[in-house]
Amino acid sequence: MATTTVTINGNGTDAAAKPSISFTDNFVQIIDGKASPTKESRHGLNPANKQAKASVPVATKEDLDRATEAGKKAFKAWSKVPYEERRAKVLAYCDAMEALHTEFRELLTSEQGKPIPQATAETDAAIYWMRAIADIKLPEDVIEDNEKRSVVTRYVPLGVVGAIVPWNFPLLLATGKLAPALLTGNVIIIKPSPFTPYCGLKLVELAQQFFPPGVVQSLSGDDNLGPWLTSHEGIDKISFTGSTNTGKLVVKSASATLKRVTLELGGNDPAIVLPDVDVDKVAEKIAFFAFLNSGQICLNLKRIYVHESIFDEFRDALVKHVKAFSFGDGSKEGISHGPLQNKMQFDRVKTFFDDIESQGWKVAVGGKITPSDGFFVNPTIIDRPPENSRIVVEEPFGPIVPLLSYKTEEEVIDRANNTKMGLGASVWCNDIKKAERIAKEMQAGTVWINTHFDLSPAAPFGGHKESGIGTEWGTNGLKGFCNVQTLFLNKAIAS
Ligand code: NAD
Repeated sequence: MATTTVTINGNGTDAAAKPSISFTDNFVQIIDGKASPTKESRHGLNPANKQAKASVPVATKEDLDRATEAGKKAFKAWSKVPYEERRAKVLAYCDAMEALHTEFRELLTSEQGKPIPQATAETDAAIYWMRAIADIKLPEDVIEDNEKRSVVTRYVPLGVVGAIVPWNFPLLLATGKLAPALLTGNVIIIKPSPFTPYCGLKLVELAQQFFPPGVVQSLSGDDNLGPWLTSHEGIDKISFTGSTNTGKLVVKSASATLKRVTLELGGNDPAIVLPDVDVDKVAEKIAFFAFLNSGQICLNLKRIYVHESIFDEFRDALVKHVKAFSFGDGSKEGISHGPLQNKMQFDRVKTFFDDIESQGWKVAVGGKITPSDGFFVNPTIIDRPPENSRIVVEEPFGPIVPLLSYKTEEEVIDRANNTKMGLGASVWCNDIKKAERIAKEMQAGTVWINTHFDLSPAAPFGGHKESGIGTEWGTNGLKGFCNVQTLFLNKAIAS
């Protein structure tokens, strides 16, 4: 990938600007509008071949202090910039991202491992999400308005937002926090995952060409940085996406300063398949949603409940579709599934494969990890493991999924809800009324009928139970970046 010159195509205000940015090297963190070098550096790995990627900074506590100071200063002015002006800058920034689509997409595959079609889809979605969120208005609510007084509820920005991003969607989950934070008048510090820092750092570098210093900053660090950020007095809100275990640490740490927190956490999504479905068609879709991104999505199907009357036929169809996947280096044409992203995740997923033998689980397909140069794991389906086994109760976050059978509707609803998680769920049935009735009984933030993983930037997204607190995206998501202020405007002169 070479340095690319970007021509802004006119959606925003900076139509004449021609920014350029290198995607091959120079991965810097940005504090107060400037690259901020660090003494120490580290690097990520390409998960398809374990080769070292370019070096990235390791932020210190002092870097964080400087970033929060710069953010505080920038917030004073940015929060007063009229909404339409902020929106125009966000849209101009989206245009620049779009012009750099190929560069972002290639960088994403090389750091995350996802194949070209999925990296393309994530890059498209990252841009689309920002544009769509820029179309959502957050007007004041007029509660009362008469001759004597008006009472108005306003949504005012919080200040400096710390955005903590995981390694499975490094682009989309960063822009999904950037746009609402900036549009509502906040400033933001992006902390990418140490496993996938590259796209996040380039996003913030590019942002400098559109936003004043201190409005969009980045910090690239090691495992110390997250806890420093969540406990820092200069951070007003943490927008966190990651695992449930880390989410609990974030709440604990943020409680000392009572900073606002939104948590988008893990999932253990069930699919409930009713007996009236077209088995082959539904099995194909369920295979897709269970194994997409090699099982490294919070919303992958992680428990598949199939009615006993169609179980054998469904299992065979599912196995057929899973066998058609092509696992390999995501940068190559024709690959549908890439490696796991990192060694930590690979080692964790391996423990579920160890359980196959020790627990005597029956395997429908896969079951062994073929040694390779990268973090590749063979797609695996476990045939009816016990309901209390790890593979049913925990989130493996890899391509290994339990297939379960059930007898009655009541029983399967109870089993689907019998989890600490509550992110998503789907019901697969030709009788839409019945499907809707079951869907409404699901304890999950998003429920689908005859699909899964459909998302919209205009719809709030969040988890019930231990899958999260609060929502992101949509009007509700924008409100999460605001304090509520009620204004009583007394029209009579005080006597
Ligand atoms: P993780 O919790 O290990 O890390 C997420 C981020 O938190 C990283 O940037 C990491 O550096 C940072 N972090 C680590 N320890 C921290 C601490 N003590 N304080 C503050 N920050 C800390 O998660 P991951 O392994 O990167 O991502 C996978 C998990 O994320 C899965 O459980 C998945 O379901 C979940 N996830 C949820 C959503 C959602 O929207 N609900 C989306 C994607 C991923």
